[in-house]
Amino acid sequence: MHVPPIPHLTVTDPELAALIEGEAQRQHDVLRMIASENYVSPAVLEATGSVLTNKYSEGYPGKRYYEGQRFIDQIEQLAIDRAKALFGTEHANVQPYSGSPANLAVYLAFAKPGDPVMGMALPMGGHLTHGWSVSATGAWFRPVRYEVRREDGRVDMDQVRDLARRERPKIIFCGGTAIPRTIDFPAFAEVAREVGAVLVADIAHIAGLIAGGAHPSPVGYADVITTTTHKTLRGPRGAMILSTAEHAKAVDKAVFPGLQGGPHNHTTAGIAVALREASEESFSRYAHQIVANARALAAALTEHGFDLVTGGTDNHLILVDLTNKGIGGKPVARALDRAGIETNYNTVPYDPRKPFDPSGLRLGTPALTTRGLTEAQMPQVAAWISAAVDAAVKDDEPTLDRIAAGVRELLAAYPMPGWEPTR
Ligand SMILES: *Cc1c(COP(=O)(O)O)cnc(C)c1O
Repeated sequence: MHVPPIPHLTVTDPELAALIEGEAQRQHDVLRMIASENYVSPAVLEATGSVLTNKYSEGYPGKRYYEGQRFIDQIEQLAIDRAKALFGTEHANVQPYSGSPANLAVYLAFAKPGDPVMGMALPMGGHLTHGWSVSATGAWFRPVRYEVRREDGRVDMDQVRDLARRERPKIIFCGGTAIPRTIDFPAFAEVAREVGAVLVADIAHIAGLIAGGAHPSPVGYADVITTTTHKTLRGPRGAMILSTAEHAKAVDKAVFPGLQGGPHNHTTAGIAVALREASEESFSRYAHQIVANARALAAALTEHGFDLVTGGTDNHLILVDLTNKGIGGKPVARALDRAGIETNYNTVPYDPRKPFDPSGLRLGTPALTTRGLTEAQMPQVAAWISAAVDAAVKDDEPTLDRIAAGVRELLAAYPMPGWEPTR
């Protein structure tokens, strides 16, 4: 049963209601280990499902192009104030539709087409929107890409500095989607300052860890911070751009009218709710537990003979290089899915295999930590992953199905926010 319930949908559109029910049950029954995913609270679900979706509000609080903004203005201002307070920034824009449009707004604000822009290469752990070729950001700007060291999988700040001095990028992105280690914001800031680039910290993955004090903050180092709101921050699908007062106007102009029309007010409300939740003491405990779980899982996986990129993790994410297991990431991710463990295949740095069947597997602990799992369960999770990889090598489907049953049984004791089984 949904919490909040969906009785009208069940009556008016039973076909769709049944599909939503199926997805909810699936989310309940499996270990969700996709590093960018989470479970939002029923309060966030209620806000995002509210009548705020009915309202058009182009503009910003106090400066709108449509009437009837008495409440919407207060809702957006609440989200802005909470974002500024939680992260300690001078400015916050809570309107970007998602992480990719937020990053696009940053390009619009600080670069011209054809300008050099710098980011981490996608196969090294960067994001598409940091200038990868298939992205508009790679097609419309001149991407300069830094990598990680072959020996230890870490960002090579000497390479970053050399590239930046030579190419003089207008924007430097730090952060990414498959980085298992702490990002050195002060080091990036030093390079950006030297070459006169705008430093953008894309904290989409780690925003919740930063809010909870489990990862250093880029505030005071990055000129601009972009983030999604739906990963470790545990809010609705959306994004924010945080900045110094100096860049506030440029950021706001780029989001609206530069790139977007009306903001998604129901999402803004959900973001406000999530920001309030993230300011509570319990969220700080949650953020630290995510990291403790990832560390415990990394240690247990290492004991099972898994080779981890950088040898471990400082955050919520583990990148496994499956080369020594004699199997690619794609068949392993598919086998794990059958075994009730949801992950994604991923490239590893200097991957000799193709991007659609790379050598790596990305694992994350944000969602299972929301369910209430702790270090105590991580050896069991690692044992299941190890057994599933062995089963994948041998095409042993009965073993995968046995693991899925074990996962279901374990998770029955850990309630899922937003849905509960009907008995
Ligand atoms: C997820 C992510 C994004 C993009 O977010 P979407 O909401 O999927 O567009 C951008 N940057 C980084 C680093 C991300 O991890």
